[in-house]
Amino acid sequence: MSTLLIRSRRMVAAGGVSEGAAFVLDGRIAEIGGYDLQRDADRTVDLGDLPLLPGLVDSHVHVNEPGRTEWEGFATATRAALAGGVTTICDMPLNSSPVTMTVDALRAKVAAAAGQCAVDVAFWGGAVPGNLAAIGPLLDAGVVGFKCFLIDSGIPEFPPLSREELRAAMAVLAESGAPMIVHAEDPSQVTAPANASYDAFVASRPPVAERRAIETVISAAAFSGARAHIVHLAAGECAALISAAKAAGIALSAETCPHYLFFAAEEVQPGHTEFKCCPPVRYAVNREALWRALEDGAIDAVVSDHSPCPPSLKGLTYIGSADGDFRTAWGGISSLQLGLPVVWSVARRRGFSLADVARWMAAFPASLAGLPTKGQIAVGCDADFVAFDPDASWEVRGATLLHRHPVTPYEGRTLTGRVSRVWLGGVEVTPSDPPRGRLLARGGTELTGDLVGA
Ligand SMILES: [Zn+2]
Repeated sequence: MSTLLIRSRRMVAAGGVSEGAAFVLDGRIAEIGGYDLQRDADRTVDLGDLPLLPGLVDSHVHVNEPGRTEWEGFATATRAALAGGVTTICDMPLNSSPVTMTVDALRAKVAAAAGQCAVDVAFWGGAVPGNLAAIGPLLDAGVVGFKCFLIDSGIPEFPPLSREELRAAMAVLAESGAPMIVHAEDPSQVTAPANASYDAFVASRPPVAERRAIETVISAAAFSGARAHIVHLAAGECAALISAAKAAGIALSAETCPHYLFFAAEEVQPGHTEFKCCPPVRYAVNREALWRALEDGAIDAVVSDHSPCPPSLKGLTYIGSADGDFRTAWGGISSLQLGLPVVWSVARRRGFSLADVARWMAAFPASLAGLPTKGQIAVGCDADFVAFDPDASWEVRGATLLHRHPVTPYEGRTLTGRVSRVWLGGVEVTPSDPPRGRLLARGGTELTGDLVGA
């Protein structure tokens, strides 16, 4: 039996920031008390004024292993996550090979991940045309929900669903309570970019493409009763649509990503395809709308959409070379290690607290993925903690990141806030320690190689 007592004068718990202490018994939080709580523990950690946050939960990570491990793998992704204060990730069903659309493919994922994860890992299943019969078995086997596209995913083996297919898949999901998470862009509103500029790329994927697709998702959610979630919302104008659906009682939620909250299209220089992702980073006025949507609750979560690839697929001769083509570069931004300081750098200026950030980046993603013991400092939860210095200022150097590829649009940016210590299941961990992450099923139980549902 191992015990830990950890105290901070700025503990993020029960929706606020206050003095407190957590007593941990065998990896779980057994008691929450005041800062002066005394318990006979194997280890006592007093953080003083250093804030203590729940370990973050990033429900949107493309690990790409097996099959595209040269893009990113479980060892590198989870070490980067740990360094960034993310103690649980949910792996997307693409761009690995095979994509996670059958129980066998999930088995391949679990086999690939086992033994090399520095943080806890759960898995999304994929909903693609023709795999309706796999949804139930994949749920039984432990996926946390399903991801689908309404537009080309960029990976031929993961095609988009039609409206009818979306409705049918969500009808199967409805009873389970597991969500359908949707890449919401409507292909009828997307065009080929007119030229190689960033402005042309942004114009080719306009807000109306997100709007039309979100309307499709809302109607499917209303029809099926299943829970729906919009991934990487980039168009701030869609917040009103989402709020209206929520007000009408439809089980809908939405996330945005650090890059949409930090960057604006105005600052993207020609050829710098490290900024390319889909939907695109839009203009400053849109970024303002996204922050307001977070404030009023239209957007529930901020997660990374960590989606790495080698620099060559960005069309870059070398990192920082500015010779990429926005028309052909692979879309995706890696920020698993940077999300917390990126979001905090702006959030603090706008008057948000660390409790807001923990709600967006830990509690909500955990509830979306059906992981009840994650994302909060509360009795019964896993003792995953982050000590975070909210005032430290530092400059991003891609070469020092633990992502497999150091391509990053944050190169040279000064961020505020630094992860200083991390605990996973009550044990203090660093990226260079032997990996102690577990593989988790929906509900928070441990996945083993012995998947049911086959
Ligand atoms: Zn994604």
